[in-house]
Amino acid sequence: MTLKLDKKDFHSFLQNLMNDYELFAPVQVAEGVAVYKKIEHPLEAARFSLNPQKPAKEVFFPQSETMFRYGKVGVKTEVTSTEKVERKRILLGARPCDLQAVSLLDEIFQGREYSDPYYINKRQATTVIGMGCSQPLSTCFCSSMEGGPFSRNHSDIFLIDLGEAYLVEVLTEKGKAFEKNPFFKKATQKDLKAAKSIEKNASNQVGAILSLEGIERKLDQMIESPFWDRVQERCIGCRVCTYLCPTCHCFDIADETLTTKGQRVRNWDSCLSSLYSQETSGHNPRPTNRERTRQRLMHKFNYFPKNVGRIACVGCGRCVLYCPADLDIRETIKEIQKG
Ligand code: SF4
Ligand code: SF4
Repeated sequence: MTLKLDKKDFHSFLQNLMNDYELFAPVQVAEGVAVYKKIEHPLEAARFSLNPQKPAKEVFFPQSETMFRYGKVGVKTEVTSTEKVERKRILLGARPCDLQAVSLLDEIFQGREYSDPYYINKRQATTVIGMGCSQPLSTCFCSSMEGGPFSRNHSDIFLIDLGEAYLVEVLTEKGKAFEKNPFFKKATQKDLKAAKSIEKNASNQVGAILSLEGIERKLDQMIESPFWDRVQERCIGCRVCTYLCPTCHCFDIADETLTTKGQRVRNWDSCLSSLYSQETSGHNPRPTNRERTRQRLMHKFNYFPKNVGRIACVGCGRCVLYCPADLDIRETIKEIQKG
């Protein structure tokens, strides 16, 4: 069903949602910088035309998350888990690339081998209101990575920005629960035509420019290649590309204890960190930046496809946009393809 939401009703619409749901939306935290956060007031939600700097994975897999708390009560130790999600949630305004990335995280956190209640509970409690990317950047290459700026995959409801209003497409059973929202109106033929034109323009801007054909096999033969020396030469190991990547999902777990009580916390980690692979013996199987930059790319284009059958990059372009050393993963892919 196709509906529309006038922008003048946007904040009332959010308030209406917040009566029954926790709402996660892009929030501006600095000039030109937005991240996904739980909002307490409709005015906090930023109507950002650009993809937020930090990916939507954070709604399901927070940068830092307490897993449980513990403490001594008399002679006993009491443990309180934080895995339960108390209220239903909405993720608003997530871009197709970030949602494709969440579907990759599903393979890890609710996959065949592991079942992570912290992630799964949040995922199951969440209705996703995706947003078409009508102003893709020159760094975006989602169309080369099995996606597209208007891919509806993994959204329950999908919004297209028409200027004065949003076109609202209800896509799944979960999304149908919102069909009767008092702020939705019936979309007109003119709205549908405008949406088609916006979608066509954006899709033309993000053409499929990269070929991944045979990349897994090529990388199999490149483990000892001098290519990795060239890749690592410019990389300063800042790890920005991994923390901002919507598909990266490494974490570390730490206990924070104070006298008789404490908490176990998991925090994002990065394979580009020198300590990441260091063993307790002191031996580090990835002792230099060469092995670490190789690991990042091997994981995305070789190990993940081998283990899960999918490429672990969605072409969001964040690693291109924010790398302080101007490294461009698209160029790296092209060089690998040249052999
Ligand atoms: S953002 Fe750039 S410099 Fe920083 S670790 Fe990634 S590739 Fe290296
Ligand atoms: S590797 Fe770069 S372009 Fe690909 S998903 Fe991660 S941040 Fe986005």
